[in-house]
Amino acid sequence: MEKGKQNGKDAGKARNIKGFGIMAVLAIILILAAGPITKAIKNAGKPKMTEEIYTEGVYTGTAQGFGGEVTAEVTVSKTSIEKLVFTGEGETPEIGGKALETITRTVLEGQNPEFDTVSGATVTSEAARSALHQALALARGEEAAESTQGAASEAAAAVETGGAVTVEPLQADIVIIGAGGAGMTAAIEAALNGATDVIIVEKMPITGGNTTRSTGGLNAAFTEYQKRDGIEDSEELFIEDTMKGGKELNDPALVKVLVENSAEAVDWVNEIGGDLSVVGQFGGASVKRIHRPGDTSAVGPMLVKALNAKLEELGIPVLLETTAKKILVDETGKVTGVEVEYPDGKTVEIAATAVVIATGGFGANADMVVSYNPGLEGFASTNHSGATGDGIRMALEVGAGLTDIEQIQTHPTVNPDTTIMYTEGVRGNGAILVNKEGKRFVDELSTRDVVSAAILSQTEGKSWLVFDQDVRDSLAAIEKYVSQGIIIEAASPGELGEVLGIDGEALEATIAAYKGFQEGGADEEFGRKDMSLPLQTGPYYAGLCVPAVHHTMGGIKINPQSEVLTEEGSVIPGLFAAGEVTGGVHGGNRLGGNAVTDVVVFGRIAGEGARAYVEKNGGYTEREMEAFAASSSTEGIEAVDAEYNDGTYTATGKGNNGDMMLEVVISGGKVTAIKITEHKETPGIYEKAESDVIAAILARQSADVDVVAGATNTSKGIKEAVDSILKENLKK
Ligand code: FAD
Repeated sequence: MEKGKQNGKDAGKARNIKGFGIMAVLAIILILAAGPITKAIKNAGKPKMTEEIYTEGVYTGTAQGFGGEVTAEVTVSKTSIEKLVFTGEGETPEIGGKALETITRTVLEGQNPEFDTVSGATVTSEAARSALHQALALARGEEAAESTQGAASEAAAAVETGGAVTVEPLQADIVIIGAGGAGMTAAIEAALNGATDVIIVEKMPITGGNTTRSTGGLNAAFTEYQKRDGIEDSEELFIEDTMKGGKELNDPALVKVLVENSAEAVDWVNEIGGDLSVVGQFGGASVKRIHRPGDTSAVGPMLVKALNAKLEELGIPVLLETTAKKILVDETGKVTGVEVEYPDGKTVEIAATAVVIATGGFGANADMVVSYNPGLEGFASTNHSGATGDGIRMALEVGAGLTDIEQIQTHPTVNPDTTIMYTEGVRGNGAILVNKEGKRFVDELSTRDVVSAAILSQTEGKSWLVFDQDVRDSLAAIEKYVSQGIIIEAASPGELGEVLGIDGEALEATIAAYKGFQEGGADEEFGRKDMSLPLQTGPYYAGLCVPAVHHTMGGIKINPQSEVLTEEGSVIPGLFAAGEVTGGVHGGNRLGGNAVTDVVVFGRIAGEGARAYVEKNGGYTEREMEAFAASSSTEGIEAVDAEYNDGTYTATGKGNNGDMMLEVVISGGKVTAIKITEHKETPGIYEKAESDVIAAILARQSADVDVVAGATNTSKGIKEAVDSILKENLKK
């Protein structure tokens, strides 16, 4: 007996079944059912064939079916198909099993291997056709025929209906990994430029990643807003600031691209519905260059909201809670797809012509941080919990090179109790830093590494950010910190010092001296260039701060076209990367505001690069994949009609093993992100409660959701903390 060749493209390909875990349990061996059936049919008046086309014998062919392989075993005489038995382990009995019976009957009765696809069982039918054709080709003495079950049947948008069972046709032209700023920008740019089949996979239950957390803004030179405000800037100056800030470790070609496209990035964000119309000053920049929303609110929520809306308008599917595990390449190293894990835990492969890695950094992966930079042992992190460096691991596996991977930026002003970061805008708008002795110790607008190092060398390695009412009035972000309980208020500098437990008299003197420097136009102590306010309007405020891991500046090696490079510098065909996952743009110290520029500029370049690559390598196809519900726990959950006050809030809830600290982001009146920042819950139980309860609260826009069975107390702790925030901030 000879065996037909299995189509390589289909070999080993898995498919997802939404809603049910039936694939593993249902296995039917059709030979049991088909034996008697075919026997009965065999004797039932088949057409008389005279032409001798086959060599007598038994032949087999195999192809990928719905839940596994389908094998056709054909017994032929010289002129006829005498017997046909399909073996379809894994095909659903009521759907695929019935289809195979029908096909067997049709083929034998008509003595014709061509048959109509059985409605509702497209994948099984295609597999049967392919397997049968292979077997008959062998019977005719030909090489096993190429399977007909290739792209065409994949493209059939196969949905095997018969209840709630759905098969995703697992193919897309471009798969983007990560729905943060870079990934969403790449998807939108690709689609705006003509790509027809782009999808995003995102491992968290919400989009946004660290991008949602970004507060300060986006650096750009030579924009209409700078011109409007009479700010003299140039691309050369922006390059100089970036390279100097990055300790000249930056890749000059990438910096050039960043800067040259920065003004256009501002226009692009505004065109897709964002707002970057106010320009401010940030540490490390020689002129006002950081672009923010008109209401001076945080840049991240505004950007993510605009990107989400544009994705929806363009109909680009985002598969939430879908974790990319592996980038697939062929034997030449060319990208062929991505292996992902679906929310129900199934691992599937999505074939793709191009893949964009936009998974962000690894600031939330303490082990990885310490492995690349042991000096950061024990540091807190400002990052969202999904920033675990998956993209770097996957890129390494396919031969990508890394750049500056040990360069990890700490943010100098992070509240140690909550890990909430005070945006640089607070210092940019006038705040000073003082130590336990009540004295300034650094030019507050120096680069992050300089300020972080200076704080660490003070008594107890900590510092206070001090400002007055005028500074508070200048920046909306400060209201958020006040509502989060991380700002202390007092009537005068002396009183403030007393409340903080630092030298109040020294603080009075420090602020008086600073007023003199501000009025005289020169900081005689530390050479601070921008001192817009004299800090003379009470009340006075202070926030405790220490440095924390903030941004992983190194990462995957790319070229100015956002193509991923090997260590030796050759391009990995079809693989692109953008955003914090890449290295080279920021060198040894990222300027505040340069990461959001990076995300938009290189996100657009990667999206367009992937689109052009698809066009050259097979062309566009029709979109087949669709997004599914974020989590099984959100199915059927309807949002309540409520609006909340915008801001980022923290609260405590009682979990199973003690207090849990949560951070809730409200943007545009809606809850957009929830993060558990501290907890002592049990691993393995905690994660389920975290993902499902948070997803449910986000879907319902209320903490009135079900608890997760087996993790009741953790669920209750989350609900309790979120509920207290939502009740306090209910607008309507
Ligand atoms: P992210 O926005 O982090 O998105 C990556 C996405 O990929 C995430 O959603 C993640 O869940 C997903 N993902 C990861 N692994 C997988 C996987 N295996 N499968 C599927 N999905 C995956 N920069 C500035 O320029 N200006 C600022 O004002 C500023 N403020 C900041 C404030 C804070 C508190 C923080 C933490 C950062 C700030 N930054 C700022 C830095 C900046 O926000 C980030 O560097 C940037 O947003 C990263 O964007 P990204 O798209 O590369 O990654």
